[in-house]
Amino acid sequence: MPELPEVETVARDLQRWVTGSTIADVEVRWERTIRHPQPAARFAAELRGATVGRVGRRAKSVLIHLADGRVVTVALRMTGALIVAPPGTPDDRYARVVFHLADGRQLRYRDVRKFGRIGLWEGGGLLARRPRSASRRVAEAREPARVGDVFARHGPEPLRSSFTAARLAERLQGRSARLKTLLLDQSFIAGVGNIYADEALWRARLHPLRRADSLTPGEVRRLHRAIRAVLRQGIANRGASFADYVGADGEPGENAERLSVYQRSGEPCLRCGRPISRLVIGQRSTHYCPHCQVDPLAEQAAR
Ligand SMILES: [Zn+2]
Repeated sequence: MPELPEVETVARDLQRWVTGSTIADVEVRWERTIRHPQPAARFAAELRGATVGRVGRRAKSVLIHLADGRVVTVALRMTGALIVAPPGTPDDRYARVVFHLADGRQLRYRDVRKFGRIGLWEGGGLLARRPRSASRRVAEAREPARVGDVFARHGPEPLRSSFTAARLAERLQGRSARLKTLLLDQSFIAGVGNIYADEALWRARLHPLRRADSLTPGEVRRLHRAIRAVLRQGIANRGASFADYVGADGEPGENAERLSVYQRSGEPCLRCGRPISRLVIGQRSTHYCPHCQVDPLAEQAAR
């Protein structure tokens, strides 16, 4: 499933290739892909003639900002991909939504398993910082109107400069959840999924079952650095391709073979040479080095 580095790669590709393009027509081939507005025909009608401004990312969604201020959100979920197809490219039976650009190219939303969702929203509210809990509840109660409301429950962006070690420490405080569980929680931190959670914990030498509130200040700083480092490396390698993830050029990313622990169970740890283990936490497969990432229970027993 595409995580922050994969989605960021797609957004950067699109920023280069479709900024300034006009959407001549929109063809919705699978109506359930359209989350908002309803019905899908209205989504298509409202986009006709719009011009693409910049393309960005929030959490695991691509944000296509239109020149008039509205924003298209694309949540790729399991198998979604946004691919720019030059004129004459053979049709794709898994293309669920096709944006016909005025210059003859197509921006195709491809999704084999059809879990992804696309919405069109009014702009605004994205930069709101730490909304008060009351206004947050209001935003959740009604159907989102502005793009900011779509992400009202999401946690901070880990690569923003405002995401400091102190802020991470603050968020870990009083949380009894296990580190792995918390890193996957999108309301705790946005954009991290199974791959980068395992990679960050290995890099920080922290066991995935450590209680969040048990970390020393030094361990928090290590975790903070590790999260940012693995995400940056993922972006530099254009993401990790497992299953269906591809960049907007249709090519897979190169980060899968550069991962340190994810899906390497039984293979030697790159730091100590002992075999990587696998365990299941909250139904998610977790990869770690039992030697470098000490088990909190074993540690307790040794005291
Ligand atoms: Zn190791």
